[in-house]
Amino acid sequence: MEGPQVESPREFTDLHRTMMYAADGKSSDYVDADTGIEEFGMPALTEDPRFGLMVNDDTEASTRQDLADQLVREYGLDTIGERVKEAAGSFSEDRRAVIGREADTAQMMINGVLAMARGEAIPPYEERIRTVTGQEPVRIDPKGREVVEIRGLMRQLLERKGYSLKGNSRGKTLAQATMQWEHELGNADTSDFEAFQKDLQAGGWAYADLLKSEVLAKLDPSLAALPVDGLEYEAASKDTNNGKPINWDAFLAYTGGKNPDSSPRYSGKFRWNIDRPAPMADVKYITNHETTHAVQAVVQQWLRQQGRLGSEAAFTTMASERAILTEGLAQVAGELVSGGKLEDVIAQFGINHSLQ
Ligand SMILES: [Zn+2]
Repeated sequence: MEGPQVESPREFTDLHRTMMYAADGKSSDYVDADTGIEEFGMPALTEDPRFGLMVNDDTEASTRQDLADQLVREYGLDTIGERVKEAAGSFSEDRRAVIGREADTAQMMINGVLAMARGEAIPPYEERIRTVTGQEPVRIDPKGREVVEIRGLMRQLLERKGYSLKGNSRGKTLAQATMQWEHELGNADTSDFEAFQKDLQAGGWAYADLLKSEVLAKLDPSLAALPVDGLEYEAASKDTNNGKPINWDAFLAYTGGKNPDSSPRYSGKFRWNIDRPAPMADVKYITNHETTHAVQAVVQQWLRQQGRLGSEAAFTTMASERAILTEGLAQVAGELVSGGKLEDVIAQFGINHSLQ
């Protein structure tokens, strides 16, 4: 597929902007990403049982070092970043910049894992930030204007709800008042497992549909056909885990790819651990946040299959610029879906206990 390139790296790194370009209906603005990195496939490292042993604290230190050496040798773990960049060498400047940064980030993360397995120090924070962002780290000043403003706003909202912070010596700190407010919200009723799970699924699907119709389809009409019904929502507890306690609160696993008949599969599962009591507002907020990520994953796979996004679609890292963008959207998606106001989010999703 031939097509013009997007000119500015900024435009290309921003998936949302990319979709907005697509929404203009000008094919010249589509990202030309038909070329994947055919020469390079990421190794199926996480499927190798030695990887699990290498990162497990219970494994003997000398064994962990041996395993690290073996995996470096067999998978070339120390050169993955370089090899990805080399494979992307013929791409346009914009795509090289994006892939290069993600390759460096991935290499940095792999180096960290190897260092831990070998009992060495992981690369310092500053070096990691520089690698991921190409910029010097910026530290938040706890006495800076923004922080002071946010604390002031929180104080106001808490006071409006009747949690006074007046009288410094005998009064509560901001943290204490916030914790008290959270405590008094009360927890979600999970006593009826089936009913809770049904609500979780209904809520997740409804939110995915809204996200599709109210945000994505407005950016690009073709996204109205996005298949989001492969997402599943499950409640979990130690009873569903062979009696063993679960050590996580909630997570989403996107498992898109291909079905055995080679048709595309857009599936994922969100799970919520009911053994950890949490306010209903948290259940809804986190379910919606993670649903946004699942829908983002569907979008990437969808665009990839249409040749509008290349191997970038599959190659993301926890610390990349893209991760920052996707987190940003997941955080504000509620406001976008319901028209931009927090009151509307509350009205629409029944998050009645918000500070607003
Ligand atoms: Zn997130």
